[in-house]
Amino acid sequence: MGFCNSCGRPIVKEDYGTNKDGSLNPEFCKDCFQNGEYTEPDITLNEMIIRKSKEMMAKNPRLAETHATGITTMFIPGLKRWNPEFQDDYKDIKDL
Ligand SMILES: [Zn+2]
Repeated sequence: MGFCNSCGRPIVKEDYGTNKDGSLNPEFCKDCFQNGEYTEPDITLNEMIIRKSKEMMAKNPRLAETHATGITTMFIPGLKRWNPEFQDDYKDIKDL
């Protein structure tokens, strides 16, 4: 099992996003990535962190907001969609 490199949720094959040619993209979930594009191209890192914090708190009502945002602030910026290191990797590949 992997996890989505945009929203960070754990994903199995049924959750995979899709590439332009319809093949599965195991790096992202289908909520974030369909037909080779992000479903919400304009969402910011900050918005994603807030959304995932709220989802975590909805699932765990006793979880404190500071704790939830603490986890998401550590985790989400390292995902490929948001991490500048990976974006440089992709840029290099495109330039070649
Ligand atoms: Zn996702």
